[in-house]
Amino acid sequence: MRGESEQGRDVSVDGEVVLKLDSVSHSFGSTRVLDAVTIDAKAGELLCLLGPSGCGKTTALRLAAGIEELQQGRIVLAGQTVAAPGAQVPPERRSVGMVFQDYALFPHLSVLRNVQFGLVGAEWADLDGDAKRKRAMEALDQVGMANYAESYPHMLSGGQQQRVALARALAPKPRVLLLDEPFSGLDSNLRAHIRDETLHVVKDSGTTTLIVTHDPEEAMYMADRIVVMNAGRVEQIDRPDALYRAPANAFVASFFSSINRLEGVVRGGAVATPFGNLPTPIADGTRVEILIRPEALRVALPTGPLGPWQAEAHVLDARMLRRASFIHLCFGEFEGQHLHFHSREPARLMPGIGVHVSVTLDRAQTFVFPVAPKNP
Ligand code: ATP
Repeated sequence: MRGESEQGRDVSVDGEVVLKLDSVSHSFGSTRVLDAVTIDAKAGELLCLLGPSGCGKTTALRLAAGIEELQQGRIVLAGQTVAAPGAQVPPERRSVGMVFQDYALFPHLSVLRNVQFGLVGAEWADLDGDAKRKRAMEALDQVGMANYAESYPHMLSGGQQQRVALARALAPKPRVLLLDEPFSGLDSNLRAHIRDETLHVVKDSGTTTLIVTHDPEEAMYMADRIVVMNAGRVEQIDRPDALYRAPANAFVASFFSSINRLEGVVRGGAVATPFGNLPTPIADGTRVEILIRPEALRVALPTGPLGPWQAEAHVLDARMLRRASFIHLCFGEFEGQHLHFHSREPARLMPGIGVHVSVTLDRAQTFVFPVAPKNP
């Protein structure tokens, strides 16, 4: 199905887009868990699906793999429509490799046999045992596990099992690799190490990859682009730095870190804050929320009158969190709101409780959005 035209754009084997979920919706019973989700992954790209538990990430992955039957929309893989309502290409013919959350290794098969088991699909069907063994060993070598070929899964650590699962998924050289929370079973130190290794293995393989995670830091560490999902919808797709610097809405802004929040009404093209009137293009009269990242608040001992974008506060508490100081600040009452904000910055200052400080606002890390209407 090369050269299939879609809204004037070419989705082809040689084109940029390798996997496309096109307006995919899905329900379990009467509950809609995906709502018109459109995602495209480009050749060699590592895309992270990021969102809170239950927002539909795994369902999107399972639909792409063909494990779940598509109800609405379309899935295009390497230029071929592999799923449309009532027409499914089976998983083993999609050229998709999958790593499940629990790795799903067969306990009674050796590491090598587990990886050989992954050699499904037409191009591997006619290969003899030796050729399959050779390819499986290459895949194990790719993840640094060739020395464990004759071991059994129960003899391996969690990180080693994860690498075997990755080798099994990569062995048939799939067009697309799908990983569902692949590091969730690992403790935090090992997790950082294995995710770094996985990043390099996946990138070196050049395989287009979709990783599901609910951990923003993991997504920012690994992804070329992040798909932020919430309640079955895509909120924003962009590069990690762009998402952090220019979130499309309050959900995206607050998903990447804890955030300080106050409300106001736009008057004369600006909204009032303790730091001064913040200009906004949002229409006058609109109720808005102002979101301020903890990194946007720079705390200092006062040295004179307040300057522009400065406000006075007193310290409620101050903690050292690794190499950052985390300071609880009270700005008192402001337009009927009691403002207790958090500042996080490289540990320069650990003021005592009750100390009066001046706080400077970095406007580049401050966002203004209309307040979402409440559900009736
Ligand atoms: P998590 O990070 O917790 O795995 P998720 O974002 O991956 O969450 P999904 O696993 O896709 O979310 O689930 C989305 C919603 O669909 C959840 O409310 C879940 O309970 C529901 N769900 C998932 N699979 C089924 C199923 N087979 N039958 C009924 N409901 C399901």
